[in-house]
Amino acid sequence: MKIMSNINFSNFDIRSLVGPQSHQESFDCDFHVDAGSATIQDNHYCCSACGVKFDGAMYLAQRDNLSLSESVALISRMQKTKIPTEVLPDLKDKLKLYKINQSVNELLREHLQKDNKWAANARDYVFKSRELRSDIVEHAGIGFFPGSKQFIDNLVRDFDAELLENLGLITKSKRDKGYFSLFSNRLMFPIKNKYGQICAFGGRQLEGDRAKYINSSNSLIFQKRNSLYTVPSPTVEKTKKEVAVVVEGYMDVISGTQRADRFDYFAGLGTALNPGQVRHILRSYDEVIICKDGDKAGVNSTLDFIKSHNSVIENNRVSYIALPDNMDPDEFLRNKGQSAFYSIMESALSAKDFVASHALRSASKNSVDDLVEAEALDSFGIHP
Ligand SMILES: [Zn+2]
Repeated sequence: MKIMSNINFSNFDIRSLVGPQSHQESFDCDFHVDAGSATIQDNHYCCSACGVKFDGAMYLAQRDNLSLSESVALISRMQKTKIPTEVLPDLKDKLKLYKINQSVNELLREHLQKDNKWAANARDYVFKSRELRSDIVEHAGIGFFPGSKQFIDNLVRDFDAELLENLGLITKSKRDKGYFSLFSNRLMFPIKNKYGQICAFGGRQLEGDRAKYINSSNSLIFQKRNSLYTVPSPTVEKTKKEVAVVVEGYMDVISGTQRADRFDYFAGLGTALNPGQVRHILRSYDEVIICKDGDKAGVNSTLDFIKSHNSVIENNRVSYIALPDNMDPDEFLRNKGQSAFYSIMESALSAKDFVASHALRSASKNSVDDLVEAEALDSFGIHP
């Protein structure tokens, strides 16, 4: 990329970004699964299978879902050199947006504590129906977006309205010159990027018949498809966790963080889970358990995931589970408790066994003969 070739990172070794495996002659690619197809050549990341050739900035941008200027800035920081001036305008634009999200999140958190019936209703949901602890609510940064016109007016007064609009926090009304917000009267979950900056929000409806969950629209700092919701463990001093559990909702992530902290939790943001997200998690964990809701929709979406992506993820490190009785992870944890959750997680199945036990359960009631099983597995790209 042009931008990088203009910048002289003296002594910069791309291996420090890629990781220890890059000291081998060839290693597994970060962008697809094919054993040993990636190499380092002339300080570039190359893969013979997917045909990429990335310099350091491009590699980091692609891998961590960053813009090129963010990636250049991060490398500059690692190299303890000055950030190149040509990337500053783009960085400043982004920083402004992160700052607004940060400030708005602080306001939303204050509003969750206010003495009015709407905030009390939001608190009831969080503390009584979901039985969350206040330290976890604090830690996750959960807030409340008031429904009042006054709150929107204050936002527009205190921040740049155009930027608020770009971030999806407010929307211009078609009827008059004013603004409204799709987040009004919603419980708010800040969504952070890998570097801890708030890139978006998720909002949960508390009453009425609007969509149950909505997310910020895509913006300069947020791409829904590639993002994941997670809450870092509040107990940072503990040893690094080895297993990550992928769940469906924000509440499952938070409930797991509070109630079963042997694992870290991740959820997609209203889009189907994609293999890039799973590979992203696998960079930091030894193992991933995909634990969708236990209802028919959850099982089917797990089967769909396996069917579409079985060939492109490292299957020996990914396993699957369907919770009993249509429960989601939050319900399971609240009803059955931590040790039942841990033991059911230990029974997570390989892709092949998950398909055999779920797809075929309905396909053949009498007996699953080997031929049917082989054909069914074959249609899922699984070759026993
Ligand atoms: Zn590749």
